[in-house]
Amino acid sequence: MPSTFSYDFNSAAYKGQVSFSTGIYINGQFLDGADNTTIDVINPTNGKVITKISEATPKDVDTAVVAAQKAFDTVWGLNAPGAKRSTLMGKLANLMQDHADELAALEALDNGKTFSWARNADVAGSIDCIRYYAGWADKVTGQVVETTEAKLTYTRHEPIGVVGQIIPWNFPLLMMAWKLGPALATGNAIVLKPSEFTPLTAIRMAHLIHEAGFPPGVVNILTGYGNTVGNAISTHMEIEKVAFTGSTLVGRKIMEAASKSNLKNVTLELGGKSPNIIFDDADIKQAVDWAAFGVFWNHGQTCCAGTRIFVQAGIYDEFLKRFTEKTLSLKVGDPFSPETFQGPQVSEIQYNRIMEYIKSGKEQGATCHVGGERHGTEGYFIKPTIFTNVDPSMKIVQEEIFGPVGVVIKFEDEDDVIRQANDTVYGLAAAIFTQNLNRAITTAHRLKAGTAWINCVNQLHSNVPFGGFKQSGIGRELGEYALHNYTAVKAVHVNLGHTV
Ligand code: NAD
Repeated sequence: MPSTFSYDFNSAAYKGQVSFSTGIYINGQFLDGADNTTIDVINPTNGKVITKISEATPKDVDTAVVAAQKAFDTVWGLNAPGAKRSTLMGKLANLMQDHADELAALEALDNGKTFSWARNADVAGSIDCIRYYAGWADKVTGQVVETTEAKLTYTRHEPIGVVGQIIPWNFPLLMMAWKLGPALATGNAIVLKPSEFTPLTAIRMAHLIHEAGFPPGVVNILTGYGNTVGNAISTHMEIEKVAFTGSTLVGRKIMEAASKSNLKNVTLELGGKSPNIIFDDADIKQAVDWAAFGVFWNHGQTCCAGTRIFVQAGIYDEFLKRFTEKTLSLKVGDPFSPETFQGPQVSEIQYNRIMEYIKSGKEQGATCHVGGERHGTEGYFIKPTIFTNVDPSMKIVQEEIFGPVGVVIKFEDEDDVIRQANDTVYGLAAAIFTQNLNRAITTAHRLKAGTAWINCVNQLHSNVPFGGFKQSGIGRELGEYALHNYTAVKAVHVNLGHTV
């Protein structure tokens, strides 16, 4: 019998009791994993165990795939009209709305992000995403393609079948919504694995999916580890597609597993080291505020974080002075306190990784201008950190740190900064600050990045595609583009009477 998680939230931000089964969700049931083992869920604010959840195994992946295939063949896929899928997704969005505060509280408890950001960004964005794709569910159509008068030729955009989805811990609910939305709208059956570090909102979502009335087997949620459950999904011979969000390192493994198994279709949303370019003529207050938001939002655990801040020589000193003041003003602490901007990093592993990067920056000769140390005495808090006097060979300039650590780099002119900005293996996002519209747009076009923000950062909308150039990924999430990840195009040729 899976255990029940009961918790009394009693903070200024949210008061309320939650209680739900923490089993893995297969074929409409909450179950123990095949080996009856559990995973401890840790509160990053104090390092203590919050609860135990059931641990899925590769055997459970097999069971989930059979359930998903059966649902796909009988009550879902081509057997469920788009309007029906849309109605169910609308019900799910409404239930998420009814439980929005609770979902935000779970996210804050499990991940350490602040309740207010979780509520206003993660949860609100997730509801919006499910609603947006509910709208698409009865609007995915093929085309009639003119060939000859004696033929009718058309395409069908069919669901792929059973799809695997593997997601990270930095935006647990939002990444889940980005995956579920387009896959359900197009009629696929799903086997989804959340991160072992942040499984609580995914499990709560399983209950809401159940309550919304999705047929058993359409969505299966397996909480487990990457090298067991994640690997079983990416190597599974009956899973025709895997969508992954996470590190570039694991993205490579997913692609390799796909190529060595059934050549399943792969989409990857991976890491980044995004440049934020601030020209001499930028509105300096605006640039400072957005730059801080770009690098420190979500504790720096954002794939598109603007971690390399390039500032033109003419305003470098003034920018650094104001950016330092802004950084020092960001309040680090309890995610449930309304004043907090930055909570703890997600886990001890991640905390240690970030501290190693900070150490390497110091050892390689960069100046640790602000921060660079633990905040407080318990939990996994790190002070917002800025390095200056860096050079391109340093690890802190090239590698994704995934923590509240930015580097500020002086540049001379456009060509110089574009060369430096493009000088990483990543290409997820970029930001540009200038009052000169021509310069803003030409720079945006010259940067190798899947998203360019002008005079803003970290803007995401359900209807705008998001994804990476270079080693930041393959494929696009969100918008109409994401629907293509989950459909197979079939061409049908009908002979209207002509002979061979
Ligand atoms: P991660 O790659 O360590 O883990 C991601 C998921 O993969 C987890 O569910 C994990 O259990 C699973 N996994 C681990 N090893 C696996 C294996 N061998 N086979 C299959 N699955 C496996 O990433 P993370 O630390 O959870 O998340 C941080 C990373 O995610 C960062 O690099 C960040 O940039 C990236 N990210 C990218 C986007 C984007 O849209 N591009 C969005 C969010 C996060």
